Amino acid sequence: MQVKIGNCVLELVKGDITQQDTEAIVNAANEELIPGGGVDGAIHRAGGPSIAEEARRYGRCPTGSAVITGAGNLKAKYVIHAVGPIWRGGNHGEPELLASAYRSALKLCLEKDINSVAFPSLSTGAYGYPLKEAARVALSTIISFLKEHQKPALVRLVLFGEDAYQTYEKALKELMGTP
Ligand code: ADP
Repeated sequence: MQVKIGNCVLELVKGDITQQDTEAIVNAANEELIPGGGVDGAIHRAGGPSIAEEARRYGRCPTGSAVITGAGNLKAKYVIHAVGPIWRGGNHGEPELLASAYRSALKLCLEKDINSVAFPSLSTGAYGYPLKEAARVALSTIISFLKEHQKPALVRLVLFGEDAYQTYEKALKELMGTP
């Protein structure tokens, strides 16, 4: 599914973040920037050790923020390491922190003049954020950012499996007011 936000495209696809040919891909990182499981593990396996070596130089990356490195052997040029919140019931600032993680990654795209970026569904694996709520936060944050800045030209959400795709599609239709 694709929608236009001004001149920008917001796209939902089912797939694997490591295979994306966007200029940047986003990693669901942890505050320590140490390779873990899930998306993070897949990116470091596919991209090689240079990504973790570069990320390590940043030290720590607080929840809600993001840092950028090269992308090693991946098709993308950059990996943006964004740290989403661990779900602790929903009353510990999780929605604001999740929105901030998306915004921080998008701001880095503007700074580096990156025109296309692919995101995984941050926080919805090991970090336990309920998918439906996360989809609403992710999509509304991206839409607001695109409305405000008219960049990057392409934002793609890469959903891992049918369930995640369906959930995001439903949330996007609701936000756009389409049946
Ligand atoms: P977090 O620690 O932020 O929760 P995870 O990597 O555990 O991050 O999971 C985030 C989301 O990414 C989950 O919904 C998971 O299903 C999905 N995912 C796992 N592997 C991939 C992949 N290779 N490409 C895209 N999404 C993936």
